[in-house]
Amino acid sequence: MRATVMHAAGDVRIENVPDATIINPTDALVTVTRACICGSDLWPYKSMEPSDTGVVMGHEAIGVIEAVGSDVRNVKAGDFVVMPFAWSDGTCEFCRQGLQTSCIHGGFFGNEEIRGAQAEAVRVPLADGTLYPLSVGQDDALLPSLLTLSDVMGTGHHAAVAAKTRPGKIVAVVGDGAVGLCGVIAAKRLGAEQIIILGHHRDRIALAREFGATDVVSERGDEAVERVKELTGGLGAHSVLECVGHEQAIHTALSVVRAGGAVGRVGAPQVETMPAARESFYSNITIAGGPAPVRAYIEELLPDVLEGRINPGRVFDKVTDLDGVPDGYRAMNERESLKIMIKP
Ligand SMILES: [Zn+2]
Repeated sequence: MRATVMHAAGDVRIENVPDATIINPTDALVTVTRACICGSDLWPYKSMEPSDTGVVMGHEAIGVIEAVGSDVRNVKAGDFVVMPFAWSDGTCEFCRQGLQTSCIHGGFFGNEEIRGAQAEAVRVPLADGTLYPLSVGQDDALLPSLLTLSDVMGTGHHAAVAAKTRPGKIVAVVGDGAVGLCGVIAAKRLGAEQIIILGHHRDRIALAREFGATDVVSERGDEAVERVKELTGGLGAHSVLECVGHEQAIHTALSVVRAGGAVGRVGAPQVETMPAARESFYSNITIAGGPAPVRAYIEELLPDVLEGRINPGRVFDKVTDLDGVPDGYRAMNERESLKIMIKP
């Protein structure tokens, strides 16, 4: 089968790899209907050390089950499913709490152990706990938004939940990438009254406004903090969604939150130590978040997608086949494209 293989920073190729197959009796084999390139795929794209074997990339997909192992009970061949970016058993202590990204037996797609979904097919471990069967057909108009349930929409929602977004409150979203934009959708959906997006890409800001952002802060650093303070009566936002992971973004997030407020972090931190540790301590800031248990959120978000109340699929600004994926990495890395959907 054909798959996207990253060999080193900046070196992404489409190659023939051994077909995905059932290995364990709890596996499912899924033919990929749509996958996509994630902002987090750009971290290895910038920094990966050369690898002998390469890594089959991709952790977001929707697809159709081709076959299941003998122990799989909850899903079956022919099911149209969402594949969350983490696989999980659905039964352990953490899965039962809705924290599937900490599953004792789980893990993540798209690394040297478990191959990713930017491919014609993918092996899904622990299929019963991992895959979410959809009761809808493969309606082309819905596919982009259904695909976001495998990561970015669930991740934006997680940021909003972790930041304790409540009706009538002020939310600030740091980052105008796909997750930040989905964070705006999530904040509006949870009833925030004022939603301030911090970002400076004109087309992304325009989309953020359509998704419900009420204010835009395009300044950076201290000026951005000042501007958010001005917009919030000098106090800062109740809830801040940190959707980038850079030191500067984390610092900004912790600086625009008001005393007693909460920051929901979903940008994978690119630093080892927490910026603004002292300031956030003296302001009694709650710092929460982490890898989103998107599997837990599908049930809540799906009706809004199916009934058209939210349309997170609008974050995709380009569709490509597998041959276009290497250039898609380049385009996203150069901020020429926001998020690229793959039709294998
Ligand atoms: Zn588990």
